[in-house]
Amino acid sequence: MPDRPQTTQHAMTRAGPGRLGKNDRAVLDLLNDADAPMRAYEILDALRPQGVRAPPQVYRALNRLVADGRVHRIDSLNAFIACDHPGHPEIPIFLICRTCGVVRERHDPPLVAEMVRRCGSDTGFRVEEGVLEMRGLCQVCR
Ligand SMILES: [Zn+2]
Ligand SMILES: [Zn+2]
Repeated sequence: MPDRPQTTQHAMTRAGPGRLGKNDRAVLDLLNDADAPMRAYEILDALRPQGVRAPPQVYRALNRLVADGRVHRIDSLNAFIACDHPGHPEIPIFLICRTCGVVRERHDPPLVAEMVRRCGSDTGFRVEEGVLEMRGLCQVCR
């Protein structure tokens, strides 16, 4: 992932690859302990006691964690989930239970590679990134 251009709006010490700032670590720890994906405002509420008060602090941390591959954004839920094995190159598949809200991350590199290849074969489109989201019922809710 290319680094974003440095902005001068805030005096943030830049964390190098693999290094996390205090807020990044707080957000990541929270998501690692969460049972379900969390929305940004839920993260903000949970971290208030630790001194995180401004929404941009949470959004910046989430942007960095997503860019690092440590956290995924579940678009259909507008929420974030910690990656179960960060750094994987392949597009993850999320299985989202519509009843209990549990989300499981699955990986099937050959299947996803074939999907990506086929997406481009007749359209000329080159997939660079993505998240696959499948909705349904988990084993417990079935
Ligand atoms: Zn992942
Ligand atoms: Zn369920």
